[in-house]
Amino acid sequence: MNRLLHCLELLARPVWKNGLFCLVMLAIHFVCVWRMDQWHPDLWAHLGGVAQDLFIICLLLHLLPHRTGRVAKVALYVIAYFTAAFEVFLYERFRMNYTPTALQLWAETTPQETSEFFAAYLHGPALRTTLLCFGGILFLHLLLEAVHFASGKYNNAFRRPPLAFGLFLIAVLVAGTAAAWTNRGWMWRYFTNTTSTRTEIRIDLFYSPAWRLAYSAKMLHLANGELDTLRRHMDTLRVDSCAGGCPNIVVIIGESYNKHHSQLYGYNRATTPWQRAEQQAGRLVAFTDAVACWNLTSNVFKYSLSTRSMDQEGAWCDGVLYPALLRKAGYRVAFLTNQFLATRRQHSFDFNGSFFLNDPQLDSLCFDFRNRRLYRYDRQLLRELDSYTPADRNLTIVHLFGQHQKYSYRLTKGDLHFTADSIVRPDLTRDQRQTVADYDNATRCNDDVIRRICQRFNDEDAIVVHYADHGEHVYDDTLVCGRTGANPPSAVVARHQFEVPLTVWFSPKFMTAHPDLVRRVQTAKDRPFMTDDLPHMIIALAGISCPYYDPRRDLLSDSFNTRRPRLIKRQYDYDRLVTK
Ligand SMILES: [Zn+2]
Repeated sequence: MNRLLHCLELLARPVWKNGLFCLVMLAIHFVCVWRMDQWHPDLWAHLGGVAQDLFIICLLLHLLPHRTGRVAKVALYVIAYFTAAFEVFLYERFRMNYTPTALQLWAETTPQETSEFFAAYLHGPALRTTLLCFGGILFLHLLLEAVHFASGKYNNAFRRPPLAFGLFLIAVLVAGTAAAWTNRGWMWRYFTNTTSTRTEIRIDLFYSPAWRLAYSAKMLHLANGELDTLRRHMDTLRVDSCAGGCPNIVVIIGESYNKHHSQLYGYNRATTPWQRAEQQAGRLVAFTDAVACWNLTSNVFKYSLSTRSMDQEGAWCDGVLYPALLRKAGYRVAFLTNQFLATRRQHSFDFNGSFFLNDPQLDSLCFDFRNRRLYRYDRQLLRELDSYTPADRNLTIVHLFGQHQKYSYRLTKGDLHFTADSIVRPDLTRDQRQTVADYDNATRCNDDVIRRICQRFNDEDAIVVHYADHGEHVYDDTLVCGRTGANPPSAVVARHQFEVPLTVWFSPKFMTAHPDLVRRVQTAKDRPFMTDDLPHMIIALAGISCPYYDPRRDLLSDSFNTRRPRLIKRQYDYDRLVTK
């Protein structure tokens, strides 16, 4: 009997000794559940998981030498407070948890964007709520530490756990293990998974900020494997022939472009005057039904450059990148991006939009020319073309900063066309109307950038394809500004964050030389399209014949399939979302 009691005491002592630690961690956990609205049916399983986690941590702290244990405990406090507070802030502000996507977004962020992020968001009610919640816990925590210290921490009686506590702990651990058993199995399978293809798992299995971070990091690690797959496919790239293609193909990739803020799509403010005039002159065609596969730059980037689309078996890395196909077919390929550089630092994997394009092997297969620096304004990026010598046939890809937040940062003094007063939205505050005005000004500025690019090719036989990576919410039909990660996306989110502008502009020479293509573009303008199929259209425009080309995915082909499922985020049928 004595032996049993002794065992019970040994088991309970680590938790008893770290009682305050457990209380604080539980308080942090419940604040996360409360603020992030996680009162779902798995709550008991989650609590079981938390109990197990805390028991194991207490045991480890207890086994560590005294000083090391104290340092480790302080480190755990710091990590817990910061990871929880930041996630609660993200959720309060963007309805976003730690997910691979959020971590990816964070990794994609350049130092400039980080400072803009803090300037744009680190104030207001979300920050106040977060500080109030965690400041409150910290205050009570410090108070209890002080009381604990004052009450004499060397009191032996206080350090021995009572029998009732030992029994209570056993009951909690047994019940917790039973409740958490199934979820633990899933988590185990996830963390021991070694391939990136079948890792779809419910994020709500991961019940704490730390677990959600671990889950996201693992997902990003798996994605690294995709790079190896892509390299393998690109090594054996095949082009059968190339004839009769357009000598100058320009692809402009916009950023965060809500097409419903463009005159081309019925907006009632003059945000795209140049493109509108070109459309009326018959030199520009606006496609009316294009959507992005994701509302995140890097995922769209991968799929809109790879010949493998989102509705197909496998992943983007099972296709090949179209710039490399054109290059192999004799095109000189320039890639200008105002979002990332081909720097040594980025050779290491960081899951941003550039991770695959900055791989030295893929970079050399795809491009002849890259820009050497980034510019505050997209107009300045075009200077890079001044030092560029084109060949007889050219593919020029220009990736803009476009209308990325913070919108006012995209504007020079000459771009201030609209003001808060010109935005007639009685439901918005003055600040919100100013944000809409900034966005519309950025869209108008983008129109000017597109004009400048097209004019560079005005005397050539050239076609300019412009699309945006994804849309953006600017208080449209709801009080959301930015992009959201909620699943499934609502019809309003699908409309504003996934629908994208897609336009084709022809130079005068092109119109004379390729009347059949102009007619094809005009015929295709209302076809339902997802931009992950874009490579097939570019391959055909270049006159390339290769095993990767699929005419059913070529927007300009007579065989184009108007009924392919347009799956956004790989799982939600866009056409169903918007007609629900
Ligand atoms: Zn983007």
